[in-house]
Amino acid sequence: MILSDLDYKGLRPTRAVIDLDAIADNMRTLLAMTPARTQVMAVVKADGYGHGAPWVARTALEAGASSLGIATVSEGQILRRSGVTAPIVLLGSILPEEAETACHDTLQVTVADESLLEAVQRAARKATGTPVSVHLKIDTGLRRFGTMPDCAPALATRIASDPNLRLAGVFTHLASADEPDDPFTFEQLALFDRTVKAIVAAGVSPPPLHAANSAGILRGLGTSYTIVRAGIALYGVPPSADVPLPQTMRPAMRIESRVTRVIPLAPGDSTGYNRTFRAHEAMVGALVPIGYADGYRRELSSRGWVGLSGQRAHVLGRVSMDQIVVEVPRGIGLKVGDPVHILGGNIADGAPSILEMAEQMRTNPYEVLVCFSRRVPRIYLRNGEVVAVSAQADSAAMNAWAEAPEIQP
Ligand SMILES: *Cc1c(COP(=O)(O)O)cnc(C)c1O
Repeated sequence: MILSDLDYKGLRPTRAVIDLDAIADNMRTLLAMTPARTQVMAVVKADGYGHGAPWVARTALEAGASSLGIATVSEGQILRRSGVTAPIVLLGSILPEEAETACHDTLQVTVADESLLEAVQRAARKATGTPVSVHLKIDTGLRRFGTMPDCAPALATRIASDPNLRLAGVFTHLASADEPDDPFTFEQLALFDRTVKAIVAAGVSPPPLHAANSAGILRGLGTSYTIVRAGIALYGVPPSADVPLPQTMRPAMRIESRVTRVIPLAPGDSTGYNRTFRAHEAMVGALVPIGYADGYRRELSSRGWVGLSGQRAHVLGRVSMDQIVVEVPRGIGLKVGDPVHILGGNIADGAPSILEMAEQMRTNPYEVLVCFSRRVPRIYLRNGEVVAVSAQADSAAMNAWAEAPEIQP
């Protein structure tokens, strides 16, 4: 189906198409890649890596995910408000004063020091009913959030002996799993194992463990712990060029737009701010309504390309806030309204893959996924059919799709 042919009742032509079937299939592949008893946590922080956390969460859970991973309390609130009842693990560091709100929404908090643990203990005392689930994070070398290994047994003992708390996990995070040549990953995993042994030796019954991110899962490292945490691979994107995905996985996001003006350029003409591009010969430009306010970063000025009729069309000059001009390859008879493939999707469309755009933007594929702003409406497909649209302040679109569940925060 060519989405640009459909009538979107007032939606702008620039949109992200999210293939929920890809997310479900990727989830099932991740389950098949890990031992049968290993649970997969779907990491849906940063609005599901830009895909829309409630939709990704629902799809991943239906396909077999056991829990969800997030970074901030408000991300958990959005998921709870969207009706998610599955376990949600707050992987990021929070302040003690956020503990009560987190517990109120039954988010599983990660602790790594006494002050946060005390705040969680206070919040858990107030919360009646089931004990509050807590994860303990060990710093095995990333030197970000986590307790130093020698403090871990005391913290674990305090959690395990508090009747209002449940030690739902002990975990660590790998610094360089996406670099297969770096032996540091093995040092981290060995230190993690030693720390877990010390926790158990201190009298704590063996807790659920987790360490692997997508790169770990793809390399088979840390997959025999209780849980693995799958982020970028769930979205069908490799963590780095050195850790490829199995062929069966595919990206869930593509971005498309349409030509809004065909621009004849005479020799000597420039296009865009500051006139950084000048035509040496007669050529044709195409105006595309996407700019850095949409997340099409200014870094892509004179560097990026889009797909036009299956060919690469390079960005001419500066990326503006709301638009770009690309070079129409010779021999293409382009007209207003023709589809433009900005990112991902079918290779035959000529658009860059997410890894290629990461290179153009001088960043990693993670930042590419999260950089597209809320101004770009998300269109959700299931079995090739549009099941929902999430548009920023596009009231016409929201009214037209009123029967679709609203997922605006
Ligand atoms: C983001 C995150 C993940 C997911 O990482 P991917 O490389 O996207 O799979 C896993 N664990 C923690 C603690 C994270 O913050």
